[in-house]
Amino acid sequence: MALIVHKYGGTSVANVDRVKAVAGRVVNAARRGDKIVVIVSAMSGETDKLIDFAHQISSQPNEREMDLLLSSGERVTSALTALAIEALGFKARSLTGRQAGIITDTVHTKARIARISCDRILEALDEGYIIVVAGFQGITEDGTEVTTLGRGGSDLSAVAVAAAINADRCEIYTDVEGVYRTDPNIVAEAQKIDKISFEEMLELASLGAKVLQTRSVEFAMKNNMPIIVRSSFSDNPGTLVTKEDKDMEDVIVSGIAYDKNQARFTIVHVPDKPGIAAQLFNAVASSDIIVDMIVQNISSDGKSADISFTVQTSDTKKALEVSERAARELGAKKVDVNEDISKVSIVGVGMKAHSGVASKMFQTLAHHNINIMMISTSEIKISCVIDATFTELAVRVLHDAFDLAKH
Ligand code: ADP
Ligand code: ASP
Ligand code: MG
Repeated sequence: MALIVHKYGGTSVANVDRVKAVAGRVVNAARRGDKIVVIVSAMSGETDKLIDFAHQISSQPNEREMDLLLSSGERVTSALTALAIEALGFKARSLTGRQAGIITDTVHTKARIARISCDRILEALDEGYIIVVAGFQGITEDGTEVTTLGRGGSDLSAVAVAAAINADRCEIYTDVEGVYRTDPNIVAEAQKIDKISFEEMLELASLGAKVLQTRSVEFAMKNNMPIIVRSSFSDNPGTLVTKEDKDMEDVIVSGIAYDKNQARFTIVHVPDKPGIAAQLFNAVASSDIIVDMIVQNISSDGKSADISFTVQTSDTKKALEVSERAARELGAKKVDVNEDISKVSIVGVGMKAHSGVASKMFQTLAHHNINIMMISTSEIKISCVIDATFTELAVRVLHDAFDLAKH
């Protein structure tokens, strides 16, 4: 008998019929003798709809209220799923994040899980219940405030619960057959990966491959919790995300990711003197905004600099406020913002030992008249910021250029 966590994403619980189908899958697993804890997302589109409602009222809604609002989507599906499992003759109980003991810090809209006190889940499992936990949410340590875990956060709920209850594995059910070399909805011939290391998956996720939320992969890696990503619409085996081993393929470029939720800020004509960057990014960090790329260009007379950086679009308004204030204090000329950008990245541990990968990426983009606005590299990835209009084209031509359909 195994203890397994199943997580079902928004498309998998998009309506009542799909909730019933999920219940059918869960019950089949229970019939095989396994103990199951289910984590569910909100119905697809629900979280966006709630965010839109809030924005019709306020351009920068209070984040505490947003968390309470958004946590409701997952409560709906957890209760419906429990009802659907009971309708099939099995004992089921739904739990909110709080009832499941998911304790987080106090950073609203992107809280981090501090710990899970899983006694209630374990007791109910012992009593023969199938547990259905509302994903994406937790409660602050003092038990007073509901928090959410950042977009896509039900993946993290699943991995964290799996680790806390010492599950044998965590199965993430979604609307594709597994993890592919790139988004199969953009490149039809993209190949599914049978097995991928935590490290490579972490890199793909953090660069935008939203099939798994970044923090969920981080958490799985730290706790050595194997994840299986598979379709909730088929019985195919999916992709195993696990510790690196020798039969994982050694290719130079193993995947391509893109992220359209990026905004670029440029602080124009900042006086060029020591401490300026520290002052600017201190202000940004103290507002809980995560900065991704940073580029600084010194003007030809050496007296001023333009500093550009990127943030997630969900932070655009906050970042604009902070950087306009910082620009005034620093004596800069103005702040430019561009939300019509995207970041396209190639990833692969094999890059460490090969030269010419970056130039091939730049040439491929140039050949298709795609202008590169920013570049950042690490040992195992190269990212380019481009005009968002060309995202799909860039992904396709890079997929071709690096022969990814063959792996
Ligand atoms: P869920 O609602 O189940 O959490 P998501 O929409 O968050 O599903 O994630 C699944 C989507 O991730 C797929 O529909 C696909 O478009 C996208 N995706 C992006 N990159 C990849 C990739 N490398 N492999 C698989 N899917 C990917
Ligand atoms: N419903 C949340 C979102 O749309 C969390 C999730 O689906 O994982 O981001
Ligand atoms: Mg998701």
